[in-house]
Amino acid sequence: MTNSFHPPQRTLMGPGPSDVSPRVLEALGRPTIGHLDPAFVDLMDDIKGLLQYAFQTENALTLPISAPGSAGMEAAFVNLVSPGDKVIVCQNGVFGGRMKENVERCGATAIMVEDTWGTAIDLNKVKEAFTANPDAKVLAFVHAETSTGVESDAKALCALARENNALTIVDAVTSLGGIPLLVDAWGADAVYSGSQKCLSCVPGISPVTFSQRAVDTINARNTKVQSWFLDMQLVMGYWGGNSKRAYHHTAPVNAMYALHESLVALKEEGLENAWARHSKHHAALVAGLEAMGLDMLVAKEHRLPQLNLVAIPDGVDDAAVRSALLADYNLEIGAGLGDLAGKAWRIGLMGHAASKQNVLLCLSALDNILSAANAPIQSGRAVAAANAIYGV
Ligand SMILES: *Cc1c(COP(=O)(O)O)cnc(C)c1O
Repeated sequence: MTNSFHPPQRTLMGPGPSDVSPRVLEALGRPTIGHLDPAFVDLMDDIKGLLQYAFQTENALTLPISAPGSAGMEAAFVNLVSPGDKVIVCQNGVFGGRMKENVERCGATAIMVEDTWGTAIDLNKVKEAFTANPDAKVLAFVHAETSTGVESDAKALCALARENNALTIVDAVTSLGGIPLLVDAWGADAVYSGSQKCLSCVPGISPVTFSQRAVDTINARNTKVQSWFLDMQLVMGYWGGNSKRAYHHTAPVNAMYALHESLVALKEEGLENAWARHSKHHAALVAGLEAMGLDMLVAKEHRLPQLNLVAIPDGVDDAAVRSALLADYNLEIGAGLGDLAGKAWRIGLMGHAASKQNVLLCLSALDNILSAANAPIQSGRAVAAANAIYGV
């Protein structure tokens, strides 16, 4: 006989998943119904409307893909990119590299525009790439690079693509719900996200939205989309706007209850308020970390409030600190990735995790652990500095 699994109670301040609120977990436990049940069909319509709000779009093709953010990424590429196409891919962290992989697996050519990890995408380099490749069909970039904590100028990148008659594929996995993302106003074409970052839902769902231009491109394809599961023409038959729905796959019914609840919570709070909340707690966290003597790795104007890159002080054992946070405080923060492995911590303030309680816990726990390890920090100042931002 094996025992039931009871996970420890953690505070999730890494790169995702983020803390899931009790109301979302409660929704997850409601009775399962059939995925073609009329009540479920109504729920699907509601989710679509709530996602249109979250993405700030009127795109009809807006839906949650029944798989994680990586599947949303793959859906954007396999539907818009055909063999022989040219795609300009911006890379300033881990996720741009995955975009390149996707382009090549579509039988297309990736024109890479690379920027140093920890910096934003350089618009001039993208302009040059369009000048050298006027036939590029798509510009693909990551709005919020979770691997480095950097925001790039999605609005300007979308405008640049439009000037060059190219479509855009925008990775908004970490941006949705955390920082402004205005799909229609910016004219973005294929935008995908994830449930477990700033939406604070359980992992495993990828909200996506496609503009009319993107839908026209999909409809004009003369080769089949290489993935059966992610072929939007087939998915549309299931999630499409009319009452008659064709079976495509079994939606993760309970996970959709959870997504719905997280989107209702976002709508109740209001997008602008959610963005302001992320930014306030980010300011308090940074004030605390800097008062402790730690350095932020990203230039102020490009920092993501929901994902904070902090330099690990010289001589401090990265893994030991993260293990102590987990063991002694039930607190998870993220390790550095790629070039930043061992050099930085990634502290997430995503969705429900963007709270005063979490900021103060993280600052006091880091202060205690770093002081005990004789790290060169200014002990005892961080919480006061954060409280000064909160006006306490
Ligand atoms: C987390 C993340 C992904 C992948 O999402 P999964 O749900 O882990 O598949 C893609 N892009 C960015 C920017 C992310 O942060």
